[in-house]
Amino acid sequence: MANFREYRCPVPGWQESSLVAIGDHHLSKEMQLWLAAAEAHFKIPLGNLIISGFRSPEENKRLQEAWDKGLREGITTRPADRSYHLTGDAVDLHIESEMLQKELAKWWEARGGKWGGRFVPIDKPHFQLPRRTQSVFEINLV
Ligand SMILES: [Zn+2]
Repeated sequence: MANFREYRCPVPGWQESSLVAIGDHHLSKEMQLWLAAAEAHFKIPLGNLIISGFRSPEENKRLQEAWDKGLREGITTRPADRSYHLTGDAVDLHIESEMLQKELAKWWEARGGKWGGRFVPIDKPHFQLPRRTQSVFEINLV
């Protein structure tokens, strides 16, 4: 089955052939396009900074349960049932430079994406695509 989503690439003219290697994080094609475009803009291999991309419902549930038990180091997973990680439409990026993180957040939000730095609880490593119009379960992950 084909992925019936339209890609909403933030940079006109970007094609799939423009994709850069981003490792084995099973991100959606749309997220790959966003990262490729951001990499080109910032000239930084963002793919190397990915802490977490796609997460299965089981993995997400496991992380949420750990979070609920108070193990709050690392990945924030609330609210896990609506997480964009379930479709590879979110990435957590380990960015040491606070300035770069803010610049990327600005770039990301200017194109309609969401940055976890504005979430409650705050989740600065988290970057996700604009709000989707379909249920995550209607989206083919392949
Ligand atoms: Zn995240």
